[in-house]
Amino acid sequence: MNFYPLIVSDIVEKTALAKSITFELEDKYQSLFDYQAGQFLSLRLPWEDSFLDRSYSLSSSPNESFKLTITVKRVVDGRASNLLNDTLKIGDIVDVARPTGRFIPTSNNNPITLFAAGSGITPIISIIRYTLKQTELSISLFYANSNDNQIIFEQELVQLSEEYPNRFNCLHNLSSNNGRVSESILKDFIGSRIQQDFFICGPAGFMDLTESVLQKLGVNDKDIFIERFISDAESTLDSETLIDRTIESFNAILDSEKHSVPYLAGKTLLESMLAHDLKPAYFCQKAKCGMCTVTKVSGDVVMRNSEILSKGDIEKGQILLCQSLPLTNDILINCDAD
Ligand SMILES: Cc1cc2nc3c(=O)[nH]c(=O)nc-3n(C[C@H](O)[C@H](O)[C@H](O)COP(=O)(O)OP(=O)(O)OC[C@H]3O[C@@H](n4cnc5c(N)ncnc54)[C@H](O)[C@@H]3O)c2cc1C
Repeated sequence: MNFYPLIVSDIVEKTALAKSITFELEDKYQSLFDYQAGQFLSLRLPWEDSFLDRSYSLSSSPNESFKLTITVKRVVDGRASNLLNDTLKIGDIVDVARPTGRFIPTSNNNPITLFAAGSGITPIISIIRYTLKQTELSISLFYANSNDNQIIFEQELVQLSEEYPNRFNCLHNLSSNNGRVSESILKDFIGSRIQQDFFICGPAGFMDLTESVLQKLGVNDKDIFIERFISDAESTLDSETLIDRTIESFNAILDSEKHSVPYLAGKTLLESMLAHDLKPAYFCQKAKCGMCTVTKVSGDVVMRNSEILSKGDIEKGQILLCQSLPLTNDILINCDAD
């Protein structure tokens, strides 16, 4: 993963707990930082004797006069989020990796319904801005916050509703008024709009509830897109105990070549590939960023943590290299497949 030194060109306080940070792009970096609405940047921030790698979704949209803006909400006792909110200044230089991510609008021309809670609005507002400008699709947004002081992009959402009265509607759910988001609140909001693309981003409980309501209403998994801002979750699965100790190697297609990779006992497929001098795409190694997602063509693996993948992804054979341990001897993974 390469990082590029980008200059902070603007910082705007969006709420007492969240700031938007814009990076200036020198000409030489313009094409590297082309992005799609809904994607995220990864930042490498100096921390004590080391650094912190953190991902932040772009809240800007690629069809606005080219802007690269993230919006960071403080997490209680969180290191990077408070560092960015407290100490970052215009003119500072931050190491930033190229945009990536699969939480992006499809081209299937379905209307879009989006569900956001808290800082989960960040990739969602990017998708909304992009879709309203570039298409004729209708968009509905359900946005949950604890109270109205916490609504990020409140003004922007009002403006978009005024600019696109027939195509964009936004329902705020404030738990201070309505109580927490519940199954019945979500069902009322969705109504009969089932043939849509659904995008969900927010805390884990909110996303799980929304996904399960959509599934109960009969929405196909392939039409549900989820971005998880997950924190390091330790899996309860004791993967090591499941591994067949006799596994010696697995096969991997990378850059159109098939490699036989010696398996290092107890290590992940990613660690084994890196030890064998193979460099598939990867970043956080914590099941957060999704960059090491590859397609499993044959064999079985167990993932320590697979929350970032949807059921549909898993059914398609997608696995996270950084979380996968081999269970069988016949594993073939394709790192080149989309
Ligand atoms: C794809 C993606 C996109 C994202 N987009 C956004 C976005 O647009 N906006 C946004 O605000 N966030 C976003 N995030 C989340 C972001 O990457 C960070 O996870 C978040 O800012 C918290 O990082 P932190 O360093 O502040 O917290 P950390 O320091 O990692 O702490 C996280 C939590 O763990 C606790 N903790 C930390 N250290 C310890 C310890 N030693 N013992 C016990 N508990 C501890 C802290 O109290 C805190 O509650 C995104 C994440 C992903 C994966």
